[in-house]
Amino acid sequence: MKKLVLAEKPSVGRELARVLNCYRRETGYIEGEHYIVTWALGHLVELAQPAAYSERYKRWSLRDLPMLPPVLQQEVIEQSKDQFAVVKSLIGRADIESVVIATDAGREGELVARWIMKLADYQGPAHRLWISSQTEGAIKEGFANLKDASLYDNLYKAAESRAAADWYVGMNVTRALTCHYDAKLSAGRVQTPTLALMTRREDEIEAFSGQFYWTLKADFTQFTASYYPSEDSIRITEEASAKEKESSLVGKTGRVVSLETVEKREQPPLAYDLTELQRDANNLLDFSAKQTLDVLQALYEQHKIVTYPRTDSRYITTDIVATLPQRLRSLQDTPFSPLCARFVKDGFRVDEERFVQDLQVTDHHAIIPTEQRVDLSRLSAQEKALWELIALRFLEVLSPDYEYRTTTLTAEVETCRFKTRLTIPVEQGWRSVAALIGKRSAQGSLGDEDEASPSLLRVKEGDAVTINSVKLRKLATAAPSRYTEATLLSAMEHAGRFVEDAKLKKRLTNGLGTPATRADMIEKLIQNHYIERVGKELVPTPKGRELVRLAPEELRSPELTGRWEERLGNIAEGKEDGDRFIQDIKQNASALVAQVIGSSDVFSPHFPDSKKCPYCKTPMMKVVDEIGQSHFLCQKLSCSYEEMEVKKRVPKPQAEKTTEPKKKVVVKVAPVEVDGVKKRVVLKKKPPVQSFSLPDEEASPAYTWETVIEVVRPSKLAYRSERNERSSDTRGGWKPPVQSQHIVDQTPSEGGSFADFLKANEERKRRDREKRRT
Ligand SMILES: [Zn+2]
Repeated sequence: MKKLVLAEKPSVGRELARVLNCYRRETGYIEGEHYIVTWALGHLVELAQPAAYSERYKRWSLRDLPMLPPVLQQEVIEQSKDQFAVVKSLIGRADIESVVIATDAGREGELVARWIMKLADYQGPAHRLWISSQTEGAIKEGFANLKDASLYDNLYKAAESRAAADWYVGMNVTRALTCHYDAKLSAGRVQTPTLALMTRREDEIEAFSGQFYWTLKADFTQFTASYYPSEDSIRITEEASAKEKESSLVGKTGRVVSLETVEKREQPPLAYDLTELQRDANNLLDFSAKQTLDVLQALYEQHKIVTYPRTDSRYITTDIVATLPQRLRSLQDTPFSPLCARFVKDGFRVDEERFVQDLQVTDHHAIIPTEQRVDLSRLSAQEKALWELIALRFLEVLSPDYEYRTTTLTAEVETCRFKTRLTIPVEQGWRSVAALIGKRSAQGSLGDEDEASPSLLRVKEGDAVTINSVKLRKLATAAPSRYTEATLLSAMEHAGRFVEDAKLKKRLTNGLGTPATRADMIEKLIQNHYIERVGKELVPTPKGRELVRLAPEELRSPELTGRWEERLGNIAEGKEDGDRFIQDIKQNASALVAQVIGSSDVFSPHFPDSKKCPYCKTPMMKVVDEIGQSHFLCQKLSCSYEEMEVKKRVPKPQAEKTTEPKKKVVVKVAPVEVDGVKKRVVLKKKPPVQSFSLPDEEASPAYTWETVIEVVRPSKLAYRSERNERSSDTRGGWKPPVQSQHIVDQTPSEGGSFADFLKANEERKRRDREKRRT
């Protein structure tokens, strides 16, 4: 008899197979003497689309909302049905004695495996592999200590409740918004409040009116010091007062009224969890959150030199302490090696009060190096940069405090108060680690504003001091800044900050989404054109701002999702019943739908550089695609006209050239039947073929640029009216000579067709994502 091991992805499966001595490679699995290892491709099973519950749900219609099937069904994802078939047939084999769930050790990983087992109708015994690193040692130890799968039943229940909640709310509110406003608008429990954070910030930026203020710095020979008009601010708000001080203070003498020296120490930062690492990588390496997760995944899976990435803990457990020396030895071929050698020989900091806390680790501990020896030559530049952050932080954590001495001086001249400060390091402690690799610590240093020179130390309290000169500066208050991925991740993590209610604030400790899903959420907002990346900043589009305005109030705030996450946590711990939660969610979904439908608002985004749709006059949104071409999309869903501006190099006319780029439409549309299915054929004229072998532009003055408008998707309004009046072929444009064509699905008449388009689009994106994951 053999055990069937189910991994989350092929790459992990191959690794498990190697460790378990399985070598016979078959399609979709690897077989050995005692084990068979197979895998999912992320999820193989998902919740069925609404149409699975009722024929009527095929069309998007307000009449059918809310959709509340009593029990949600699962179905195999079309794109991965082959792999599902492989897994199912293995599960059914007579020589399988049990299944080992080896998907990612977390809520979503549990769901991946359980749904597959459910749809494959597996009833036999099951075990769970729960490991935090992918090294051979960890895998072997994990298999020696397999847990009974039933210990994770509550986690499964929580995962399933999460999926159901997202379905009921997402499907219903998205359809309500889309149908009610005749625009492609989607909403979700995490997506909408996250978008709302950004649009609120945009509102603040627009409402901001800057003000000037002045600061004044005086030179006292032994030191310089800033003028403090109030106890803790250097801002002078009145220009007249600033000018008066500037002219009256020079040459005046005063006294040092206090001189205080304090010894201070700063503890090292904690080790990384995923969010903190994504934040630092965005700040220091310009990585997006998604990119950090992808690179980190490679360090974990492929190189096996860091521990499990999707963690929200910054602590380690007591049982890890004994492994620390080996983890330090694994860094011996890196620039950190002198410090590691010293740590191994002389000992290092193990802070039972701080870094080592069993209670602060739920599923996985902080991200730290594994015991696998690091070979830097095998890492790509990105992998190396990210690894360096992790290793650096790990060594900082094990280092002593940074100790320093701060001297603060206060002087009074007439009635004016001046202050300055000098900081001298006594013991560099953890702050010296970064210097090993010639970098600065990712952990920012404490206030380094307004530092005096060491000559300050020659001054004594009571000394008379004279102002030699002053420097006045005029400054402007700064507008709130837009979110970057780093600051957005923080905002999502600490969403409680945006909640008024003190009790809820406390409950919202988990923030918006989970560390594992935040990067995907940001990508999704970008794909849906609700936000755009502009340099490092994330900027909400007019469409995104309009969506937030129209979304139900409750969905805009992080409170709702915070309450849900808390209840999901309780379900995972067996403290709450999942069914009651789902009942509440259904009620909630109905209320949200009613709110949307009851609104008398209209969808009217303001696009600054907008064109109007030639058919329905609705503003069109400009979107630039991956290859830099501008698309214009009509925002009225029942029209959905889309055109594209294509810049083409064409031969200059032989006669005298007109330098103005010409605009012309070269595309026509015709309904035809292909294999008995009605299709719409879009006909495009291509530029002359010889343009492929053109020499470059300057060398060839015989060519010029021309802007051509191509219709990507014709207006449904136009198409419908065409069909109504189809009075023979008076519109000669229907049959131009065919040079190239692509076919767009055409479902008959009304609203339903766009739903299919949306669905197809979603599926394509998911396929792309999955391709990237594997
Ligand atoms: Zn239109």
